[in-house]
Amino acid sequence: MRKKLIAGNWKMFKTTAEAVAFADEFKALIEDKELISDVAIAAPFTQLAALNDSFRGTAVKVGAQNVHFEEEGAYTGEISANMLTEIGVDYVIIGHSERRQYFAETNESVNLKLKAAFKHGIVPILCVGEVLEERDAGKEFEVVRKQLTEGLSGIGAKDAGTLVIAYEPVWAIGTGRTATADQAEEMCAYIRKVVSELQNEDVAAKVIIQYGGSVKPENAAEILGRENIDGALVGGASLIPKNFLAIAQY
Ligand code: PGA
Repeated sequence: MRKKLIAGNWKMFKTTAEAVAFADEFKALIEDKELISDVAIAAPFTQLAALNDSFRGTAVKVGAQNVHFEEEGAYTGEISANMLTEIGVDYVIIGHSERRQYFAETNESVNLKLKAAFKHGIVPILCVGEVLEERDAGKEFEVVRKQLTEGLSGIGAKDAGTLVIAYEPVWAIGTGRTATADQAEEMCAYIRKVVSELQNEDVAAKVIIQYGGSVKPENAAEILGRENIDGALVGGASLIPKNFLAIAQY
């Protein structure tokens, strides 16, 4: 059985002091509890080292929200995969819709970033999902298939089997408008089918497929109860320790 992965995406929120305060509170909350899900927090780059120190010896893993695809070079403002592994980062979000929308990320750059993450043993959380106009036009499956096909081009089964994919319909991010559990399950099942076509059935059975978009304590159980939904990528609700834990312990 696939274990659920609940990952927080802090986006551009929290200073280092605030991140450490979150970690202290979260550690106190989980101290006497057995976590039923794997848990990770994807924080801004400058908070990663402190968070990794704070969560050392706990089950909580740390993730980045982006990575550059080159090993090193003249890329002002960028961070490479080996810089992330050096500070103990386990996950990296790749191709979040905000990066596609505001920072011109394409399926091609996403593909290169996935390869860089795999090369350095960081588990990528590949984000896919349609915008509202695409869903209204009935094109959501086509859009997601293209993101997966181009994003995973040239990636072997061994790497692909460790991948996390987050289905995040863009119209449900930060809007309070959650996809219904049926809509989320339908797309997550479709993603698994596409992965089995692009890779093989064994990889498709292993891949962790999350839903993301306005997940909160109140709707977590319904969404996470579905067969093909193996976790959640959580934005807003991951900023508050008790809410994030309530989702992880749905
Ligand atoms: P949200 O963000 O939970 O605030 O909708 C999700 C995301 O962008 O990953």
